[in-house]
Amino acid sequence: MLTIRENQPLAPLTTFGIGGPARYFVAVRTAPEIPEALAWAEARGLPVFILGGGSNLLVPDNGFGGLVMQIDLRGVIQDKPWSPDFIVGAGEPWDQFVDQAIEANCAGVECLAGIPGSTGGTPVQNVGAYGQEVSQTIRQVHVYDRVDKQFRQLNNHECGFRYRESIFNTTARGRYIVTAVVFLLHYGKPNLSYADLQKRFEGRLRSPKLREVAEAVRDIRRSKGMLIVPGDADCRSAGSFFKNPIVDANLIPRIAGALDIEASSIPQWLAGNGKIKIPAAWLLERAGFTKGFVDGAAGISSRHTLALINRGNATFADIERLQNCIIATVRERFGITLEREPVLLG
Ligand SMILES: Cc1cc2nc3c(=O)[nH]c(=O)nc-3n(C[C@H](O)[C@H](O)[C@H](O)COP(=O)(O)OP(=O)(O)OC[C@H]3O[C@@H](n4cnc5c(N)ncnc54)[C@H](O)[C@@H]3O)c2cc1C
Repeated sequence: MLTIRENQPLAPLTTFGIGGPARYFVAVRTAPEIPEALAWAEARGLPVFILGGGSNLLVPDNGFGGLVMQIDLRGVIQDKPWSPDFIVGAGEPWDQFVDQAIEANCAGVECLAGIPGSTGGTPVQNVGAYGQEVSQTIRQVHVYDRVDKQFRQLNNHECGFRYRESIFNTTARGRYIVTAVVFLLHYGKPNLSYADLQKRFEGRLRSPKLREVAEAVRDIRRSKGMLIVPGDADCRSAGSFFKNPIVDANLIPRIAGALDIEASSIPQWLAGNGKIKIPAAWLLERAGFTKGFVDGAAGISSRHTLALINRGNATFADIERLQNCIIATVRERFGITLEREPVLLG
């Protein structure tokens, strides 16, 4: 039985804590409630927005005039007690699943500890951090297909994973509602490919355990305001606000010229096809948007250049103004148009 609420404030359901209410709101706890809620909205001609943990979301100040459906399908099943496969309900908090996987001695998601949001939200932008991405361990994504009006399963390849992308936020945006994610982990050593993590464990005689790596990741995140800690103003954000841009390598001399520096001193990674990836944080800093930057009620985290924050009573308009100012300045200085990472509701 659906419980549909009216005029539900959305700001408290997001990590940014901004924006207006949803005209209608429903939290679905069983899979059959999904088509039921969609039919309810369709009968009234209302648009539907799918909400997970609200950690990658910007809500406009006038809210949303349709139905917000929060996916609250729970449960973690280890496929067989001896195998490292897990079927995880889309509404399970991601960081809790990371702990459960570690408890079962399974590697593959330990570097993704401390990322807020729901498990169903992770395939959407192929969540990644500290040397791991969920696309490396997702075997299947269980979905409700809004076009064919049926439940189905997509394999890893069908999800079209790339850097911060999948079909769920590109070609098939809005079509699929994730109901569960199947992870194939492995019994093995933690991933220490990331330099910050290697440094943490340098000089130790024994290799770190999975739990120690996850805790190290949470520590590093905490130090950067990238862990949700009640009362920490720096984490009233949606995490990284801009994607690291992938641009033509021939832009490098222009950037070097604009800053009067050697091209070789610009941090960059090869991204294939003559393209390179440049850290968005580096571009922001060179454009004058440094840690602790204040613009009224909006600002930049004092510990992480890429996190735009709500400094107290910020509105969506405040965040949008700062976002537009950063995009315009970086474009003017370096010829690069930054792309926002968080999703705009509506
Ligand atoms: C402090 C902080 C640190 C962060 N660090 C990282 C990081 O290191 N790496 C990283 O990649 N991200 C990071 N993020 C961003 C965010 O946590 C992830 O993108 C997260 O996976 C979003 O999940 P969510 O459930 O909160 O999704 P929401 O914010 O609720 O929704 C985001 C998008 O996913 C869609 N969606 C959500 N659930 C479903 C579903 N079940 N079915 C279909 N669509 C769905 C929504 O419609 C929306 O389009 C961080 C955010 C914060 C606040």
